[in-house]
Amino acid sequence: MNKKIKATHKNNSNKKLIKKRKFRLMFSVLCLFITIVGINLAEGDYVSKLVNGNENIPFILQTDSEIIKNDWRLILVNHWNSIPDDYKVSLVKLQNGESVDERIYADLQEMFDSARSNGIYPMISSGYRTTQTQQDIFNDKLNDFEAQDYSTQEAETMTEKWVAIPGTSEHQIGLAIDVVGEDNQDNAKVQQWLKDNSFRYGFILRYPADKTEVTGTNFEPWHFRYVGKENAAKIYKSGLCLEDYLESLQ
Ligand SMILES: [Zn+2]
Repeated sequence: MNKKIKATHKNNSNKKLIKKRKFRLMFSVLCLFITIVGINLAEGDYVSKLVNGNENIPFILQTDSEIIKNDWRLILVNHWNSIPDDYKVSLVKLQNGESVDERIYADLQEMFDSARSNGIYPMISSGYRTTQTQQDIFNDKLNDFEAQDYSTQEAETMTEKWVAIPGTSEHQIGLAIDVVGEDNQDNAKVQQWLKDNSFRYGFILRYPADKTEVTGTNFEPWHFRYVGKENAAKIYKSGLCLEDYLESLQ
């Protein structure tokens, strides 16, 4: 009899324990749910703030525009817009060993021929880059800043203004070229000619001095990006940068 009572007692306390555990589990799940919903709401709010535009806030391309979607020349790759995972590049190798997307080759050749006939001798110092090359360039710049006694955080922030994080560089899609003067020709002279004339051949100065807040990149007089002749002419004549131009098409 005593044994029976003891057993019932035990059963009851087991049941209480199970109930307690169930309650704790449900409480934890509820907390987790509230946290996840909270984070999503906060992120949604953040993204909508970004999309709604403020020139001090990054530009994230979220578009239904058929003009943008159907034009490979208008792909946006920057600090906040990574290269799509399935992006494929068909390259053509240039005489100096650099490569570019084969679709831009004819216009690039035409531009360089025209420059030479005007006494301007451009040379591509960097065209297409693999992810590894981009990573190496990024690390070199980061090491430079760290050697100057900046903290890791400061060095990273500064590096990102000069070198795109791998996966966010236009050089990785073969549509960007860095141009300097051939032999001893003054870089500034060559880059000025390109700034004024490259739009005729489908290229734009990608990171103008007055657009660093929008592009997320410091002024780079050497970096030109292919967008096609029609787009380049519109961008050049309007004074917009690529981000501004894409926004105007949405
Ligand atoms: Zn570049």
